[in-house]
Amino acid sequence: MTLDSSPCHVCGEPAAESASAVCNGCERRFHLRLREDAEGRDCGEVWISEQYLSLEFACFPCLRGEPPGGAAPEPPVGRGH
Ligand SMILES: [Zn+2]
Ligand SMILES: [Zn+2]
Repeated sequence: MTLDSSPCHVCGEPAAESASAVCNGCERRFHLRLREDAEGRDCGEVWISEQYLSLEFACFPCLRGEPPGGAAPEPPVGRGH
């Protein structure tokens, strides 16, 4: 666990420790308002796991089932002429 604020991997902007979380899926930091009255953006969601009664964090790319990295989708390659 590091104390330096790493950028949000979803939007690429700096994410303060107090306004971000680490995704359980890709283990990268993303913006998350940890308090309802907090200012800021959400780049993911948090909910309580019914199975473990623990907090689950997931960034939007993981929620959408996209691979981490945020790269633009490339056209499929492989069809020859
Ligand atoms: Zn973000
Ligand atoms: Zn993720």
